[in-house]
Amino acid sequence: MYRRSNSGYGRSSGYPGRGRSLNKMRLLLAAGMALFALYSFWSSKEVNEVTGEEQYISLTEDQEIQLGLQAAPQMIQQHGGLYQSQELQDYIDEVGFYLVNNSLARDTDWQFEFHLLNDPQTVNAFALPGGQVFITTALYEQLETEGQLAGVLGHEIGHVLARHGAQRMAKQQLTQGLTQAVLIGASTDSAQFAQMIGNMVNMKYGRDDELQSDDIGVRIMAESGYDPSAMIGVMEILAEASGGSGQPEFFSTHPNPDNRIQKIQSAIDRVFPDGVPEGLVP
Ligand SMILES: [Zn+2]
Repeated sequence: MYRRSNSGYGRSSGYPGRGRSLNKMRLLLAAGMALFALYSFWSSKEVNEVTGEEQYISLTEDQEIQLGLQAAPQMIQQHGGLYQSQELQDYIDEVGFYLVNNSLARDTDWQFEFHLLNDPQTVNAFALPGGQVFITTALYEQLETEGQLAGVLGHEIGHVLARHGAQRMAKQQLTQGLTQAVLIGASTDSAQFAQMIGNMVNMKYGRDDELQSDDIGVRIMAESGYDPSAMIGVMEILAEASGGSGQPEFFSTHPNPDNRIQKIQSAIDRVFPDGVPEGLVP
């Protein structure tokens, strides 16, 4: 843009030599910033206790919890506020915290909170980094058993334990760092933070993240005494809801729900190789 015309204010027009050295400096600066972005990304490597995978996360667990808490009001606002029923809220808390306290989630420091969103249109559930979990009334109303509710919440708890949100953010920061290196623009911190919150609220996890959360959800359900087959019931409800024009966002990254059900079945077979035992909560 600066160089569209030589008669413009291009710095190099009058002083060719000085312009060249400025360009050189700019290139060096860009290379330095790109290297720094890459370095920050790679140096944030750690092993996730739940998934056993190497992750690149630049946030501490505490920062992650704080970010989730800060973004929660925006998520609630975007979905019609909280559903006003203490009785239903208590029930969702009861099932959610039962899962947390009786499974692998118990040994972690995430600060879980479960919210029922007053959204009768969007069939969905979400998790923000650090432990903020949401389910819409549109999805809640379609559930038929407590086990299915445990399936939805277990899947969302899975996203938190696997730190999918923070992982996505680390990747975004890498992208941001590299973009800045290219543009060498001055960053405005507050605007960047607002954008980060916005990104977090609208974040869609990738297909692998979803499958991994299904898998962790199955383990959490089994450990807490719920029949993990109920997770398949949730998928069937979601598949049916997607039959019309509006596809549930839960499936936005999953063009093939049948395939997802197959993977859930193999996760169940891994947990219960001799078949699902009797007496689990359906
Ligand atoms: Zn998910």
